[in-house]
Amino acid sequence: MGIAIPFDNSYARLPQGFHARVPPKRLAAPRIVKVNRALAAELGLDASALESPEAAAVLSGGAAAPGSEPIALVYAGHQFGQFVPRLGDGRALLLGEVVDRAGARRDIQLKGSGVTPYSRQGDGLAALGPVLREYLVSEAMNALGVPTTRSLAIVATGESVYRETELPGAVLTRVAASHIRVGTFQYFAARGETDNLRVLADHAITRHQPDAVGEPDRYRRLLEGVARRQAALIARWMLLGFVHGVMNTDNMAVSGETIDYGPCAFLDRYDPATVFSSIDRGGRYAYGNQPAIGQWNLARLAECLLPLLSAVEAEAMEQATGALSLYADEFNTAYRAGLRAKIGLTEGTDEDTALAEDLLRRMQEGGADFTATFRGLSVLAGGGDTSAISSGFRDAAAFDAWAQDWQARLARDGADRRASTDAIRRANPAFIPRNQRVEEVIAAAVSDCDFAPFEAFLQVLSRPYDDQPDAGRWADPGPPAPYRTFCGT
Ligand code: AMP
Ligand code: MG
Ligand code: MG
Repeated sequence: MGIAIPFDNSYARLPQGFHARVPPKRLAAPRIVKVNRALAAELGLDASALESPEAAAVLSGGAAAPGSEPIALVYAGHQFGQFVPRLGDGRALLLGEVVDRAGARRDIQLKGSGVTPYSRQGDGLAALGPVLREYLVSEAMNALGVPTTRSLAIVATGESVYRETELPGAVLTRVAASHIRVGTFQYFAARGETDNLRVLADHAITRHQPDAVGEPDRYRRLLEGVARRQAALIARWMLLGFVHGVMNTDNMAVSGETIDYGPCAFLDRYDPATVFSSIDRGGRYAYGNQPAIGQWNLARLAECLLPLLSAVEAEAMEQATGALSLYADEFNTAYRAGLRAKIGLTEGTDEDTALAEDLLRRMQEGGADFTATFRGLSVLAGGGDTSAISSGFRDAAAFDAWAQDWQARLARDGADRRASTDAIRRANPAFIPRNQRVEEVIAAAVSDCDFAPFEAFLQVLSRPYDDQPDAGRWADPGPPAPYRTFCGT
């Protein structure tokens, strides 16, 4: 059965300096280990065809599918604050774009298919463990309602990848609204290639700001659109306890999707200083720094766009700073509203925000689990006992005192208990990709070729806001344990 993907490759049609063509590199024995059937359907692709041996060759980069024009994209970026003028897809390959069933253009990209002209010292490969991790976490994020790149398929390459040890290799097929990053703009801006910068901006507007196509103020609207989308995205991360871990400007997509699942992880205990990534020694990308880093990255994009914003420098500066304020306002509004929703209050008063922030403070002091505490509120609102939650606090009385104020506040609203319980459930997942559980299912797959736990967890994570009585072990925070994540593995 042929694998027919109706490619339409707008990025490949951009000028030469935007990308490098990469020829196929055939592997001896690639094997499909996972296909995301629901996503395949969304894309209008035949899932069964994606499970064929022919698909294994295509989705490992060993054979070009008809209509595909495999390219590696060039970009620059600030890595931990240091500008690197040329990064680019060192282990990724854009096969092409398809227009999905809803009419949206989506990139189909391979990650881990071998060296490209941008690989520098890297081998261009990925190990099965990190590929499974990205698949699981990105699909969980999607189910949690967070804009994100998606995972369409995993191919086991049948070849080894050498890190500290010898590991099985894999290729992830990733789907994204685009792979245009802040760093893509930085690449052309740093080279003073204003014509290419304009081509890129117009391309980004076509894909992500279609209302502004051809308008005289389109570059300002693009910048403001990125500001709005990033503010909304990072607010969602904060409200779910997600720590991205490597918010370099090359990992910030102008689409507003979460991208690059290398070192990310979810908070267990609530602490704004939480860092999981082994290379983030200064804590630049700590949980609590994410909103400010988002603004810092946006400032780098604004700088790039200055020459396009207005010929009058003062006007361009005003538009750039306006976008940074817009980001801050949009973030604060979304974050505060989300925090109030997490405790079942939607009226929008400052007092309610303060009440939610008071809970966060007590959680931090009490070493309480972020996800379990908030989810527990739905049970309390339904008339349950406080002890199930307060036992997670070092000082149970600290939670009980807060809960009394909160219950009084709910009563003042005359809120219907059932409605409050449902609203709190919708704002607070029961199931997230808990660090220890993620490691457990990856270890079973990689060490024992047992994919059953991975599949079971994926299934549970596809309905994160539903009570799933038989799935309790996946929600259990377990004893607090230090956790480290790694990039580029
Ligand atoms: P990241 O930290 O994942 O955002 O990656 C930063 C840069 O390193 C990007 O240009 C990647 O393409 C590149 N890179 C990461 N891992 C590898 C690898 N194994 N081989 C080649 N390039 C890589
Ligand atoms: Mg990256
Ligand atoms: Mg990465």
